[in-house]
Formats: sequence, structure tokens, C-alpha cells
Amino acid sequence: MKQVRCPICDAAMPGNWQDYPDYPFCTRRCRMIDLGRWLGEDYRVAGKDATDDRSTPDEGGQEVS
Ligand SMILES: [Zn+2]
Repeated sequence: MKQVRCPICDAAMPGNWQDYPDYPFCTRRCRMIDLGRWLGEDYRVAGKDATDDRSTPDEGGQEVS
């Protein structure tokens, strides 16, 4: 049987991993840690994206004839 490990703390999950409600994390704590990382990345990217978006104004109607 394949050994499943928690991607956060790298702890082995013995027995039936399907019984773990927080799979693929071993515990809810590890799940929240991963969630926090995701949210942190998301906020950072969103703020940067908004700034970059302003640096490139959309000017349409430029026709070359
Ligand atoms: Zn863990």
C-alpha cells in the first residue's frame, strides 16, 4: 500500500488515509497552515496585479491607415 505523507509536516499517515477528514493533511492544523500560505500568496499577487494593471492603460481606437 502506498504511504501517504502530510505535505506540511511530512508526517506519515498510518492506516486508512481515507478516514482522515483533513486529507491530504494529517490534521486540521496542517490544513490551516497550508490555507494561510495560499491566502498570503493570493493577497500578494492580487495587490501586485492591481498595480501592474494601472501601468498599462487601455487606449483603443488607434487605427493605422
Ligand atoms: Zn501534518
